[in-house]
Amino acid sequence: MVRVIEPIRHLPDDPVNLTWGASAVTVSPDTIECDDLPFWKTKTLAEMTHDEWERLCDGCGKCCLEKLEDRWSRCISYTEVACDLLDVDSCRCANYAQRRRYVPECEQLTPANVRKFNWLPSTCAYRLLARGEDLPDWHPLVSGDPETVHRAGMSVRGRAVPKRRAGRLEHHIVTWPL
Ligand code: SF4
Ligand code: SF4
Repeated sequence: MVRVIEPIRHLPDDPVNLTWGASAVTVSPDTIECDDLPFWKTKTLAEMTHDEWERLCDGCGKCCLEKLEDRWSRCISYTEVACDLLDVDSCRCANYAQRRRYVPECEQLTPANVRKFNWLPSTCAYRLLARGEDLPDWHPLVSGDPETVHRAGMSVRGRAVPKRRAGRLEHHIVTWPL
């Protein structure tokens, strides 16, 4: 899959090489190829390697907050209570490799199910790309700095309460993760 950078109104009959800055693009009636766009602009979620898929995560930690589902309306409410395995300072899972052993209900995000998980926060990189949107400026892959997600106030840093100290989830419902 290729994202169109700018509208191309008249495609040439034969392939044409276009360059600007360090970028090079081949344009033809059937294909548009670019050799140095980042992977999230040129690949679908299903085409990404395991490493690329993992790097897509912005490290916000929002998906690791406990959620409540209304029995009748099925509406999801976020709480500020973090899964016990979440390090609320780094916003990273403390044992990602073996997390399912300790938290069996932790969902494995895949290209096939990302669209079904309507509880993912609107800023989640997987959700954004699945909806055809781009990554925001504060995403570490765009900024080159893993701290920008925190500086932009997009992570749970400084806001999440560890589950072991929280008490009843109903007392911790919040609206900020969305
Ligand atoms: S919400 Fe999405 S981007 Fe944020 S930590 Fe979870 S999977 Fe990663
Ligand atoms: S087990 Fe790890 S990845 Fe899963 S919800 Fe808890 S902190 Fe997040």
